[in-house]
Amino acid sequence: MSGIFINGDWHENTDMICCRCKLPVWESNNPGYTYQCLNCDEDLYVHEVEEQDPHYLPKVIVARRVDGIIINTALEYVLDDSNEKRVFINQAAAEAFLLGAGFNSEDLEHMYFIEFEHEPKEATT
Ligand SMILES: [Zn+2]
Repeated sequence: MSGIFINGDWHENTDMICCRCKLPVWESNNPGYTYQCLNCDEDLYVHEVEEQDPHYLPKVIVARRVDGIIINTALEYVLDDSNEKRVFINQAAAEAFLLGAGFNSEDLEHMYFIEFEHEPKEATT
């Protein structure tokens, strides 16, 4: 499941988008609301969102907790040849790459497939 980090907290893709700007919405941290739109900077009710196109396949970068240890808070990323975070065209491509690199499907459950284009800038700690 792809998602984003908001202030260090993992938010999975909700399969819903904002009615107003059509960008993905995320689970709200605010009791009383269901979703939040980072683009509109607003918390939303259920009737303010609509279903995401099922063919929506965001580009992702891949991270895991340092050394694969779940309790580590720091993240390490899959890098490309220039030591930049490697961008995959979608999650399936990232999974194929990881499996080819020797990870198994259980390892993949502990990976974060980050929809980096939607991630708030201040959350990249
Ligand atoms: Zn919006």
